[in-house]
Amino acid sequence: VRKDGLFIAVEVDDAAAADTVLAKKLTDACPVDIYAQHGDGTLELVEKSLDECVLCRLCLDAAAGRDPAPVRVLKLYEDGAAL
Ligand code: SF4
Repeated sequence: VRKDGLFIAVEVDDAAAADTVLAKKLTDACPVDIYAQHGDGTLELVEKSLDECVLCRLCLDAAAGRDPAPVRVLKLYEDGAAL
């Protein structure tokens, strides 16, 4: 899944987005509520919050230990460079 704001896009592998444990970790980690959970616990990306991203990397930390990294925060204002 991917959602784009004006400045920030977030991309999460579909398998990771379906992982309800990871979805909860991401939801708990992000200080500006870019991540949420659908009724079935799977990951939802909250489009209206995307540009509030403070580049804190807490979501990347929450998803650490998986290879390849399932969560990408992309800086659209830097040609889509990954955080
Ligand atoms: S970098 Fe921080 S603010 Fe941005 S999406 Fe990840 S947890 Fe949220």
